[in-house]
Amino acid sequence: GSTIGILGGGQLGRMMAVAAIQLGYRVIGYAPAGDNVAASACDDFFENGWGERDAMAAFASKCDVVTWEFENVPLSAVEAIPLAMLAPHPKALGVAQDRLNEKSFVEQLGAVCAPYLRVENDDDLRRAVERIGAPGILKTARDGYDGKGQWRISSAHEAEGVRFPGRACIYEGMVSFEAEFSVILVRSVAGEVRFWDSSANTHDSGMLVHSILPAGALIESQIEKAREIAAKTANALDYVGVLTLEFFATSNGPVFNEMAPRVHNSGHWTIEAAATSQFENHIRAIAGLPLGGTATRFASVDMRNIVGEDALTAHRILAEEGEPHLHLYGKREARGGRKMGHVTRVSHSAP
Ligand code: ATP
Ligand code: MG
Ligand code: MG
Repeated sequence: GSTIGILGGGQLGRMMAVAAIQLGYRVIGYAPAGDNVAASACDDFFENGWGERDAMAAFASKCDVVTWEFENVPLSAVEAIPLAMLAPHPKALGVAQDRLNEKSFVEQLGAVCAPYLRVENDDDLRRAVERIGAPGILKTARDGYDGKGQWRISSAHEAEGVRFPGRACIYEGMVSFEAEFSVILVRSVAGEVRFWDSSANTHDSGMLVHSILPAGALIESQIEKAREIAAKTANALDYVGVLTLEFFATSNGPVFNEMAPRVHNSGHWTIEAAATSQFENHIRAIAGLPLGGTATRFASVDMRNIVGEDALTAHRILAEEGEPHLHLYGKREARGGRKMGHVTRVSHSAP
């Protein structure tokens, strides 16, 4: 097949489309109307709601394989697409769209999680804080990203003042971690799994802002265990494509936080600094092509998000030393701390 369909219109889809176009595919996107920055990288783009089954079917009829860059595509929408065309398998969405499903699924495969309980009303919340203790975080079970839909609760007293937000939530104990990292892997149709190096990731108010390599001794000592869990997860989901699992590196080993059944912000550095980028290997995997190498090409790598800043002022970065690699996503406005782009810096040593 020669046409790849992408559900979702954000920057991940944009970078995925660029990789697919480079490999000679036609790319068609689909997302509800909005600032769909993937559209300019696609040959065609459907701006229709997730509930418009006819539009979804028309989109699918133009594609040979359909993937996603956004894990909250409603399952009911995905059902309008023939299963054989979808990669990864949509069961990964079913697991990853709900934080409780996701934690129990990966826990069964041997991961350690922070203590957590389902919260569906004020009483549940009170009970959860009592049992798990504070500090902790109340998170909506579904639809959260970049730290949205999260409330930090520092004490049982503070919990008294927190109202149940009206939708199913999870309350989890606050993990006292030394560092954060993610395992990003690609799995082929034949079941071959390859991993990129894990960067050390820094978040600000729940949003990833910075990834660096090397990740440091503590993370490096926990990668093997984390990779084992990630590979088991991919195998259990018959996963094809790029899968990400986020971990906290604690003094007691890796603690699983969440998964993203897709390419991931903490892997943007792979565009310039790995043998094959996460975007290209995702396309290769879903298209049934041979996977590319995942080795890191430089002694050190630094990826920083450009958040809430007007894209044009970010062009000043191009005047900096060290040949920074600037990526701007073409978003219309920087309002509300949106991810507008990123910049990757690599160590260049003389030949
Ligand atoms: P993403 O954009 O990664 O999908 P998200 O909105 O799904 O973000 P999480 O990844 O659950 O949110 O949390 C965002 C960040 O908040 C984490 O990377 C971590 O820094 C912090 N955090 C979340 N849960 C915990 C926890 N239980 N203990 C300590 N820190 C936490
Ligand atoms: Mg998340
Ligand atoms: Mg996260």
